[in-house]
This record gives sequence, structure tokens and C-alpha cells, in this order.
Amino acid sequence: MTERALASAPEPHSQPDDSAMLKAVGYAATHSFSKLKRFEFLRAPAQANEVELEVLFCGVCHSDIHQVKNEWSNTVYPCLPGHEIVGRITRTGASVTRHRVGDLVGVGCMIDSCGSCAPCRSGDQNYCEGPNSWLATYNGPMVPAAKAPGKANTYGRDNTFGGYSNNLVVKEDFLLKIPSGIPAAVAAPILCAGVTTYSPLKHWGVTAGMKVGIVGLGGLGHLACKLAQAMGAQVTAFTRTPDKLDDAGRLGIAAVLETDRQAMEPLKSSFDFILSTVPEKHDINPYIELLKRDCTLCIVGALEPMEPVNNAQVAFHRKQVAGSLIGNLADTQEVLDFCARHGIGPDIEVIGIDDINDAYDRIEKGEVRFRYVIDMATLG
Ligand code: NDP
Repeated sequence: MTERALASAPEPHSQPDDSAMLKAVGYAATHSFSKLKRFEFLRAPAQANEVELEVLFCGVCHSDIHQVKNEWSNTVYPCLPGHEIVGRITRTGASVTRHRVGDLVGVGCMIDSCGSCAPCRSGDQNYCEGPNSWLATYNGPMVPAAKAPGKANTYGRDNTFGGYSNNLVVKEDFLLKIPSGIPAAVAAPILCAGVTTYSPLKHWGVTAGMKVGIVGLGGLGHLACKLAQAMGAQVTAFTRTPDKLDDAGRLGIAAVLETDRQAMEPLKSSFDFILSTVPEKHDINPYIELLKRDCTLCIVGALEPMEPVNNAQVAFHRKQVAGSLIGNLADTQEVLDFCARHGIGPDIEVIGIDDINDAYDRIEKGEVRFRYVIDMATLG
């Protein structure tokens, strides 16, 4: 299964000729400084264990912006983002057993993994230790061939095109079922923002009565607050944005302005778990001070070197600073079902694909409340 731009020459072997390929259209960036523009390409049709789907909705994650702008220094262009995808199956491969044409399904950040390393065997595909790690829904393998042992490319491709497009071809094992209680557009952000926050809340054992802090009230952060509340935790959001104190009130979430020292002081040593969703390097020391002894601050927002940690705070109270990466397939299905059961989901604003560049600007300015979701029917 591979994609290729319409203008490029066919790859040398194991590729169907163009007449057998699926025509696809989406929005992609060709350079780190370019806007997303309409982009036509071809996808290889579904193999026996794959399905083809029509993309209905795709959420807009801050990761899409990092990737398009090459802020992680690993972007392969053209870059066609989108990993919060809800679609309807249009064709199934011959050996597909768990899904049928017409099913409403979800695709998150991964579309394949090695399947044989220890994390994959224990169901943690998101921590795949295969030579190319897992295959991201867009921007290809997490470890590109050039950086893999033996320069191998076990997936046979260095780039993948994501959900800002009209169709997708995915292995059936990497599909999630969308529960009937969640509207398709609302389900989309749960596939990344939802599982990225649910997975650490679950891993660090958040339960009823615990005091949980969520830093950054954006796409991930507001959903994390709703999930932790539904788990029965007492939740406080930390924001840098005064207007969001009112937004938090509307959502029924206690919120504190992170620069308000008077409000922060009495919270010291009182939290059981804190999750930071801030999208860049920031000072986590004030949040370490808010943890109780033996408790954990987990960072999911910044995937880069952080400001130095004051290890006195960590060591004297045996605290932990941790990180977490998206979530495995089982947790992704679990968070979808959890949201359906508890009647919760992200607050979304549905946009047309033509609005995507403007949406990126507004996300960077912190103006979105709280997740944009693209209606892919607007691709035409
Ligand atoms: P959003 O932009 O929707 O939200 C981030 C929030 O962080 C903002 O709304 C803002 O909230 C707060 N913030 C604090 N400082 C800054 C700053 N300097 N610039 C912008 N926002 C700031 O982003 P997402 O929630 O979509 O994603 C958050 C991060 O999580 C991204 O870096 C993304 O790449 C990463 N991510 C990580 C994953 C993982 O597996 N670990 C998976 C998915 C995403 P406020 O105004 O309340 O302060």
C-alpha cells in the first residue's frame, strides 16, 4: 500500500499501474513555509487485509502544524496531514473479517507497526521497537529508512498521506469502531487528542476522588479535563489565557491562571497527577511543586528538550516526571467507548477544507474553542 503524487514517476516494482490506483485529492504542503493547497495523488488499492474508506471528517491537531512547518525536523514533503479520521468503508479486501462496506470507522495516528517486537506483542503498537517503529498515518514511518538499522524500510515507503483527503487505505487491524452514540465529527478528535490524554490518565491510575491537574486548555487539554472528570477525579485546569477561565466555568471545570501566584500557592503538594499538554518547551518546575509525594507529572504536549528540572523538588519528595506517546489500539477503542458511555466528547467547530490555513493561524494564537474538525465533503 503506497501513495504517490500524480506527477511523479511510478516506483520500480510491486506497484499497480496507474489505472489500478485510487485517485485521491487532499490538501498538502510542499515546503515548511508553504500554505496547504489542493493536491492530487494516487493511492494503491486495498490489499487482502486492508479496507478503503471515504473520509468524512478529520480533526486538526497541533501536531499537524508542527509537522507541516517541520518543527520536529523530520517532515517529508509533500506533507498531507490528518490523523483524527472518521470515514465510511467503501471496499474491503478479500480476507477482511471484522469490518463491512458501510461501517463507520476511525483511524488515529498509526496505520501499521512491526507486529513482532515486545511492545507490539503486548499490544503497545505505539511504542513499536521494530526497525522503522510504527507507521504514522501521515509523514511515513516514525523511524525513516535512513535512520533505521541497516537502512531498512520495512514498510516500503518513506511517506504516507493522511486524512485531509477524500479517501484512505488502511489495514483492518488499525481501524477503530465508532460507537453509535457519538456523532462522526465529534468522534474524530478522540482518535488522537482523546487517546493521548486517556492513556496516561489510565496508566497512572487516575480514579475517583484523586486530584488531577491539566496544563493547557486546548484540544488535548479540554478533552483531558472531561475524561478525568468522568473518571471521578477532581480536576483543575491551568491556563495562560484569562478568557479561558470563563470557558472552563462553562465546561464545569475549575481553572487557575498559571501566572496567578496567590491562586497557585495553596495548591502546592496537593495533586495526585498532572498532565501537561503545552505544545512547546516550558518550565514545569511550578507544576512539580504542586504534586504530592510519590506522584507524577506527565508531559504529552512538548516532544522536545525541556527547561531544566529542579531535581531537589523531584528527589526530596520522590516525585516522577514522565512522558507518554498517543495510545495503543485497545486504549483508542476503550476511550471511544468510554466517551459514548459517559456522554462526553470534544467541543468542536466544523470547518471547510478551504479554511484550513486560517485555522492553523487561529490554533497558534490560541483562539480555537477547542478543536477544529474538517468536513471533508467540502473537498468537492
Ligand atoms: P492546542 O494548540 O489545541 O492546545 C495547546 C494549549 O496549550 C493552548 O490552547 C494553550 O492553552 C496552551 N499553551 C501554553 N503555552 C502555549 C504556547 N506557547 N503556544 C501555544 N499554546 C500554548 O494543541 P493540541 O492540544 O492539539 O496539542 C498540544 C500538544 O500536544 C502539541 O504539541 C501536539 O503536537 C502534542 N501532541 C502530543 C501527542 C503525544 O503523543 N504525546 C499526541 C498529540 C499531540 P491555554 O491558553 O489554556 O494556556
